[in-house]
Amino acid sequence: MGKRKKSSRKPAPSRQKVPLDTNFTCLFCHHDNSVTVRMDRKEGVAQLVCKVCDQRFQSKVNHLTEAVDIYSEWIDAADAAQKEDHVPRRPAASSSRPARIAEESDED
Ligand SMILES: [Zn+2]
Repeated sequence: MGKRKKSSRKPAPSRQKVPLDTNFTCLFCHHDNSVTVRMDRKEGVAQLVCKVCDQRFQSKVNHLTEAVDIYSEWIDAADAAQKEDHVPRRPAASSSRPARIAEESDED
């Protein structure tokens, strides 16, 4: 028989879906892979936590939710929160007009 012994070498992993890739870069401290997403599908919740700066986020999951979905929700939430924080309190009406009136025409 020409059957070879089971090779222990695997071909290089193709760039497919990475199984259980639940580590991400932190938005806040920017450490690679410091953010872990844990999903509890039974409970229907996901916990995202950065082990470096201890940022946390919680979201709901369903059977289709992937860790990366939680991560992007977190990004959206953080983004929204930041925008809210930075809402300018000053009135929008800017009544500063250019002082060009004097320049109009002075020919006499
Ligand atoms: Zn962090």
